[in-house]
Amino acid sequence: MREEEVEVAIKVVVVGNGAVGKSSMIQRYCKGIFTRDYKKTIGVDFLERQIEVAGEDVRLMLWDTAGQEEFDAITKAYYRGAQACVLVFSTVDRESFESLELWKKKVEDEVGEIIMVIVQNKIDLIDDALVQTSEAEELAKKLRLRFYPASVKDNLNVEEVFRYLAGKYLERL
Ligand code: GDP
Repeated sequence: MREEEVEVAIKVVVVGNGAVGKSSMIQRYCKGIFTRDYKKTIGVDFLERQIEVAGEDVRLMLWDTAGQEEFDAITKAYYRGAQACVLVFSTVDRESFESLELWKKKVEDEVGEIIMVIVQNKIDLIDDALVQTSEAEELAKKLRLRFYPASVKDNLNVEEVFRYLAGKYLERL
């Protein structure tokens, strides 16, 4: 009997304050492969994309809170079963940076320690920066997380973030 190929699927939650670029990042990465199933019932969405990492097919399901960040009941449902997390803040929003540890805690309270990465989005706006990359690097070091400066607008480092998470996940299998 031939062995069935087992597909690896990873649920990734993208969290952070409003307007830091979470939806844009998911849309950018997944290029419009849209699954609407959950939208009507619990107010969350996910998009997916399949990539190959170390010879394995990996399906990434990227979950978006669709602007419901402040509603704990919704975000809890959104975190459930997540295996990886992108903590996003914006270069031009100081508060979004200062909220990062809170977001980390919120996710970990629900799902425990999972693979996480810190993303400083809108790096294209560096001339108007309210957060320096060096500060973010320091925080990432303290929390022992990988850090990526990124621009969803310029498509800088978006691929790299998700490839890193998928690779880390495979390492742990
Ligand atoms: P969310 O609330 O975190 O999901 O944020 P959105 O994805 O809705 O993005 C908020 C705003 O930031 C939108 O107007 C986006 O076009 C804009 N945006 C997202 N990513 C970038 C980026 O890398 N650079 C710039 N300049 N704007 C961005």
